[in-house]
Amino acid sequence: MTQPFDGHALSPETTAFLARDMRLLIDGERVEGCAFHETRDPATGLVIARFHIGGKAQIDSAVAAARRAFEGPWSRMAAAERTAILQRLARIMEANATLLTELDIIDNGMPRFIAGLTTANCVEMVDYYAGAILRIEGTTTTPPRHVSAEADALTYTLREPVGVVGQIVPWNVPLSTAILKLAPALAAGCTVVIKPSEETPLSLLALADMFSEAGFPAGVVNIVNGFGADAGQTLAEHPDVDKISFTGSTATGRRIVTAALGNLKKVSLELGGKSPVIVMPDADLALAVPGVAMATFFLQGQNCMAGTRIFAHEAIHDALMEGLTQFAAGMTMGHGLNPATMQGPLISEAHCAKVMGHIEAAKAAGARLVTGGEKLARAGNFVQPTIFTDCAPDMAIMREEIFGPVMAVQKVSTTDIDELARLANDTPYGLSGSVWTRDMAFAHRLVKRVRSGQVSINCHGAVGTNIPFGGYGQSGWGREFGQEGLDAYLETKAVTARL
Ligand code: NAD
Repeated sequence: MTQPFDGHALSPETTAFLARDMRLLIDGERVEGCAFHETRDPATGLVIARFHIGGKAQIDSAVAAARRAFEGPWSRMAAAERTAILQRLARIMEANATLLTELDIIDNGMPRFIAGLTTANCVEMVDYYAGAILRIEGTTTTPPRHVSAEADALTYTLREPVGVVGQIVPWNVPLSTAILKLAPALAAGCTVVIKPSEETPLSLLALADMFSEAGFPAGVVNIVNGFGADAGQTLAEHPDVDKISFTGSTATGRRIVTAALGNLKKVSLELGGKSPVIVMPDADLALAVPGVAMATFFLQGQNCMAGTRIFAHEAIHDALMEGLTQFAAGMTMGHGLNPATMQGPLISEAHCAKVMGHIEAAKAAGARLVTGGEKLARAGNFVQPTIFTDCAPDMAIMREEIFGPVMAVQKVSTTDIDELARLANDTPYGLSGSVWTRDMAFAHRLVKRVRSGQVSINCHGAVGTNIPFGGYGQSGWGREFGQEGLDAYLETKAVTARL
């Protein structure tokens, strides 16, 4: 019989948290929703918690609370005070790192080494944006001619918060995708209604207590769990929301844009990807083998930056396949709570079936299976790290975001930069990508031609708190992380004074 958490022990704080009534956070209060939903451990399929979900009424009251907090204390608070509150939040999160890490492991299925990293990055992100508050700066510039011709004049700009922000996040890195929206929005002086994914509410619900402990006034952060088509859609359409920031699939991104039309709210989108990985004949295979493997398999491939379209030069193709096969065979699969686990389960049975459908379609289309391709015969949604080669550019496996541990390799014979860039850019997406070579001049020239928001050389998915991240093409609108992540929550007001 399947044991809860495959028999692994949880910390006392996580056990105590799971026994709680998982309410929404609206106007500083933990309130009931309109229904309940369950979340399951994807490694065992067992239910781990039942939580309240909200619908239109809860979104309406959360938006009203966020508006009151925005008009009231938050946007008027002295910058130093806002900084101190965010810094307190970072310290509280740090003190609760075990709880936050374990909740993402059991809710999402991610291995502990990833959850530990993302929790630490979230603390760093809150500290980073706390520090950025004192650097929110306008400019002075030349006053307009018709004013300065008649009198002395002064023109300057103010950076002001956008207002009430709706944030909708996915399940693949629950705490991280939430914090990288919340921290800059709060630093800018916005107030927030955030909707976690219905698949992974737990780490955000744990954060709910930490906001009031840190000293955020009631209504500054509101957390409303719910389904996309109901709570999510209501938030995106809401006439009193000034901006919507969304991370998720490109298909849902289109719905968000349509929903935002009513009041022409500002929209930021972080969407899907099908990122290219180009491996040249002179690549250092000692670096490239683990690097390319993890470009695809990190987070079971449930990763928007995943490098899943591999262009392998024919001169190193066979050696690369051999190395990747060995690497995949060495990836310990299991529960994320096991420290040895490198590969956890996929988020749900339905998603697992979708990924297996892609694998069967790739076989039928004539791609050659190098390794993997099976769902494990055990509880949970485990799919082996899978590699196909002899893929053609028109195969679905080379075009569609699979969001699973499935690598598609196309053998190439060219070293021509234009031709390689054409192959890399043959996708509607443009989120990430990497080039593997010892020739740095070649690498930098090729990088300039790749249409993508992030391209790495001899590494992949090089995200960091201070590094702007976002998509070209259908991978999104705008940037998160770094200064640009803060700018996304600020308006610029130009002021001219006739003196
Ligand atoms: P999804 O689009 O199904 O759901 C994302 C969120 O949107 C969830 O909270 C969901 O409830 C909500 N939602 C669904 N329908 C909605 C609607 N009609 N109106 C408003 N909200 C709605 O995506 P997912 O399956 O949760 O996540 C996987 C996707 O997210 C992948 O495509 C992945 O590439 C993308 N992603 C992108 C980034 C990035 O930074 N670019 C990061 C992580 C994930």
